[in-house]
Amino acid sequence: MPNCTDLSQVFIQTLEQSVDSVVVIDSQNRIILFNEASEKLWGYGSDEVLGRNVECLVPKPIRAQHDGYIEANRRTGINKIVGTSRDVLIECKGGARRWGSMSISKIDAQGQMLYAAFIKDITRQHEEQHRLYLLSLVVDTTENAIFITDASWAIIYVNDGFTQMFGYSAQDVVNRTPIEVLAPYFKHSRIAAIRRQLARNDAYHGQEFGYDRGGQRVWCNVTTYPVHDIHGHLTNTVSVLIDVTHTRMHEVLRHKMLEAMVREESLETLMNLACLEVQRIAPEVIATVLRVDEKGLLHTLAAPGLPVAYSKALDGTAVHPESGSCGAAAFSGESVMVSDITSHPFWEGFRDLVIELGLKACWSTPIKSSDGRVLGTFAFYYRESREPSPLHSLLVNACIHLCALALEREESRVHIRQLAFYDDLTGLANRNLLHARAEQAIAQASRHQSSVAVVFIDLDRFKQVNDSLGHPAGDEFLRVIAHRLSDRRRESDIVSRLSGDEFVLVLPQCTSVQATDLIEQLRARLSAPCQISGVTLKPSMSFGVSMFPEDGRTMELLLHRADMAMYQAKTSVRGSVCFFSDGLDQLAQGRLRLEAALREAIDDEALHLVYQPQIVLGEFELYGIEALARWTHPQLGEVSPTCFIPLAEECGLIGEFGLWALREACRQLAAWRKQGLRVPTVSVNMSPTNFHNRNLSKVIIRTLEEYGLQASDLTLEITESVLMDTNPDTLTTIEEVHALGISLAMDDFGTGYSSLGYLRRMPIQELKLDRSFVHDLESDATSQALSEAVIRIGESLHLRVVAEGIETLAQQRILQNQGYRIAQGFLISKPLAPDDLSHWLEKHCAFG
Ligand code: C2E
Ligand code: CA
Ligand code: CA
Repeated sequence: MPNCTDLSQVFIQTLEQSVDSVVVIDSQNRIILFNEASEKLWGYGSDEVLGRNVECLVPKPIRAQHDGYIEANRRTGINKIVGTSRDVLIECKGGARRWGSMSISKIDAQGQMLYAAFIKDITRQHEEQHRLYLLSLVVDTTENAIFITDASWAIIYVNDGFTQMFGYSAQDVVNRTPIEVLAPYFKHSRIAAIRRQLARNDAYHGQEFGYDRGGQRVWCNVTTYPVHDIHGHLTNTVSVLIDVTHTRMHEVLRHKMLEAMVREESLETLMNLACLEVQRIAPEVIATVLRVDEKGLLHTLAAPGLPVAYSKALDGTAVHPESGSCGAAAFSGESVMVSDITSHPFWEGFRDLVIELGLKACWSTPIKSSDGRVLGTFAFYYRESREPSPLHSLLVNACIHLCALALEREESRVHIRQLAFYDDLTGLANRNLLHARAEQAIAQASRHQSSVAVVFIDLDRFKQVNDSLGHPAGDEFLRVIAHRLSDRRRESDIVSRLSGDEFVLVLPQCTSVQATDLIEQLRARLSAPCQISGVTLKPSMSFGVSMFPEDGRTMELLLHRADMAMYQAKTSVRGSVCFFSDGLDQLAQGRLRLEAALREAIDDEALHLVYQPQIVLGEFELYGIEALARWTHPQLGEVSPTCFIPLAEECGLIGEFGLWALREACRQLAAWRKQGLRVPTVSVNMSPTNFHNRNLSKVIIRTLEEYGLQASDLTLEITESVLMDTNPDTLTTIEEVHALGISLAMDDFGTGYSSLGYLRRMPIQELKLDRSFVHDLESDATSQALSEAVIRIGESLHLRVVAEGIETLAQQRILQNQGYRIAQGFLISKPLAPDDLSHWLEKHCAFG
């Protein structure tokens, strides 16, 4: 065995003192030299290793092959490894491992080949390198982009993530600044500020967007760390960029949609915006939004990437488990993915349409309201058979919530519109919509110089239906009328309910002649009997018509005038249709002023009664007197009762007024009686409305008592219009009054209902021939025949008959010849003030 003595002492010394470890082995691989540095490195004392196989110095796993390895080297010309250095793993005493950089020298010691291994401890460097290696692995496998710049802000390193994110390779960007590459839009001032911050050793955090190689925006969360040397100079920066485009896209999408909603954009605009934005982000999809209507049919709201013809063809498709992806999604309330339209049964009915457009797959997701109803669908079409990507899922999730918001908002808008513009009960247009649409119709008529008819319709006896059958029946009745009104209307006609039992029609392009025909047809249709709550009702109504442009150029005025005409129609016995005329207007203008004055007059008792005598013909005996109301208006002077009585009726003063007249007449009669004047009876005119008062008979009894009068002292004059009064109380009150023993006279007889049947039903004691017949007696044979008929009727029914309005002796003679016995008229006397009547009586009557 060679030993160290084989080596020259000098050489040995050199090896022993080397700062690097030196291990010398002999031809059997036994350690013959182990210097101090080796002892330090391995932790063995040289006495522990000298003479042992060198494999004890290497880690166990390679120990087994170590001998063979050295042998192989010896055989194959060890020179190869001599002089070169390589990194080796060594095992220290106790098992710890270290790294060494080893170079080997061959030593020829007197014919023996020895090997000296020089080992430098590079454990630290090696670990450092390894750490860097691991770090570089991390840096390169992360999806985030990382780049490093030098002191002049130029890029010196980019990772793989950078290349993936922005499409640039390291060569593309090295030596350029990141701003120049990614964000050329940055302003100089901004760049300078960021650089100052980094130079101060402050890291920079921010959200920015950069442009990738293809020009697409990439939103990033950016963090840049400055690196400074020991002198405090910035040497590098390290930046980490995290792609937040998806979240950012979501935010942008939401922002854009919400902003559009705030701007009150239409639903279609909003949905188009959503589709376009999605298509911009993911150009591989074609987005559509469909709406589900109340009948369960689908309608396209937006499909900016598809031809209009396609949307039209799909419009009205029923929600159904197998009608395309959207129909199925809306039906099931779940999203439906059809990745191959060509073979999927859901697409049976639409396959050809879609294939023609080159579409292969469709993914539809239901849009639901907050309470879970399906409002519509949001769908992605693809040009190839495929499944959605994670980005697509993100986009759909973002969109369906925004679409739901927009659809729900639209729904409430429609609801509000319905409340604001339609009548709840009948579904007809309400006053607001009537005005809006009528103004449009008028504007159009004005442009085309055509006419528009405005028809005001008021139901007769509606209150009675409500009172006797109850409100639900009343509502039902109104719905029937509303249905009949809108039944056969033209597209352009506007049908509306104003309030209660008032309806208005606006008929564009309609002359007054056409309106007359139309109303006739309408009346026939409206008045057909109908069953309400088991009762057959025969609706009747009054129509008032005003015409554009003759009667007014604004809807307000036309409506007002149609209303006035309707009122006229209602009060006139002749027909229930009335067209507006100027006379009506003047009447109405005056009416308003008069109404106010009349209220005052009643309150201030500015009214008084005058009395017209009725005499027994031939005997010049007073039969009775008729009390007639007079109103002396401070400015207008004498106002005729023919004017103010209907007015009192209209403004609800007639009840009060009737009671006043009754009381005043009784008071006057009692006063005359006290004076000793013989006035047999006083007749007081009553309006039908006065009999609505169920207390009337009680009031009469009290009044008679108060003035010490008998029932026979009083006659109430009523007109045939009482028969038209629909209030069920009227007849009852009349019966009660009659039961008191008070006479009832039928005034103006002959002008109204020709049916005599009612005369039998009414407890009448007196007929008063209408003065219009008397007026024409001398000239008109018909009037003569009529007056003849009236007296005969009276005789046959045992009624007293009074002829009024006698102005001439000729008239009086004719009437007398016909058998009339009681007469009233200017010929005998004008209506007289109370004092004048006493004088008149004294002068003319035997018992005055
Ligand atoms: P009326 O009950 O038919 O009263 C008769 C009307 O004929 C009275 O008109 C009277 O002045 C008028 N008259 C009497 N003789 C002649 C004549 O020879 N020639 C002409 N041309 N007219 C004659 P007036 O006072 O203007 O009353 C008009 C109508 O007003 C009355 O018609 C009656 O319907 C109503 N009226 C008057 N006073 C009252 C009242 O206190 N209550 C109610 N509800 N109605 C009243
Ligand atoms: Ca009368
Ligand atoms: Ca009369």
